[in-house]
Amino acid sequence: MLIPDPMSTSRRNFLKTGLAAGALMAAGPLKYSGALASGVDDIVLETVTGPVMGSTIKKALAHEHFYADFHGPSDANYMNVDWQAVTGASVTMAEELAAQDVNLFIDWTNIGIGRNVMMLRHVARQTGVNIVSSTGIYKGLVPPALADLPVNGIADHFIRELTMGIDGTAIRAGWIKISTTETGTTEQESDFHRAAAIAANETGCTITLHSPQAPTAWSVVSVLQSEGFKLDRFVWGHAQPSASDEHLKMVDEGAMVQFDAISANSDPFFNGPTDDESMLDRIESVVKAGHSDRVLVSADAAAYIHPPAWQYDRDNGYVYRYFEAKLATRLGEEITNRILRDNVISAFRRGDHVV
Ligand SMILES: [Zn+2]
Repeated sequence: MLIPDPMSTSRRNFLKTGLAAGALMAAGPLKYSGALASGVDDIVLETVTGPVMGSTIKKALAHEHFYADFHGPSDANYMNVDWQAVTGASVTMAEELAAQDVNLFIDWTNIGIGRNVMMLRHVARQTGVNIVSSTGIYKGLVPPALADLPVNGIADHFIRELTMGIDGTAIRAGWIKISTTETGTTEQESDFHRAAAIAANETGCTITLHSPQAPTAWSVVSVLQSEGFKLDRFVWGHAQPSASDEHLKMVDEGAMVQFDAISANSDPFFNGPTDDESMLDRIESVVKAGHSDRVLVSADAAAYIHPPAWQYDRDNGYVYRYFEAKLATRLGEEITNRILRDNVISAFRRGDHVV
């Protein structure tokens, strides 16, 4: 590989070599333009090992976890685990995915459920799998240090994590994940949603939502819109239990919908059928409505969950081992590649070009 001369090579071409991440991080935050790329290859993803061009991505997984911790950040047991065991399980999972040519892993563990970007960076370096991590607070699991901040203070925290770094590192978040409790949005969660909209407007990043029920998802959408947030940067996660009509309404508004229980024998959290045919039916209905560019698919599995009683029954290796072929039989290879790869790159972009 040629070593580019930074004096005579544009920053973008320099990036494309894949050699420049460290140099760029040292040089300060990237700037992104707001223009939409003609294709996903020119998109920049902010990963835990630095910026990565879409052109380097072979296969992707849109919603997965290496580690998740449900004790809550005020509990003494929170993140109090054998990190060698967590890292080992995570490296093993990433190696198995890398053997399937997966080199983009979108990790949905955010603030409050055990996000550990230094562990993620280690896994990325050990395995060559690019990992994107998020900012945003999970439900009411707010760390004590952030608990008393006003909406603007929370927004500033998200912006710092997106543009400067997380937990004292230069590792930047790729997007903002927000969530609601399953019974409906609490007032505190609504404040976090407003803060997310402010931060997304400022940085040009995506907001994804953990909220399986359509009425709650729509109420979150109206809060985001009241802050001026545009739905073409919105992903509705865990959409599978809701009716197809709701999925179609959401994509008509410009958002993406995500079906993220592939491989699940049952869905103990959100209910609804998770067998492959049901998943394929949901995907097909969005594609037939002309929105093959607005659907995401994943398993939502985890390598290590704390406490262990919460470990659930998913296998993200299943997506490319079996589901990809079923999707291709149903919708053809071009649309399958768009859904499984291109849409993931597009959904988690931070602006479309380095400028
Ligand atoms: Zn998840």
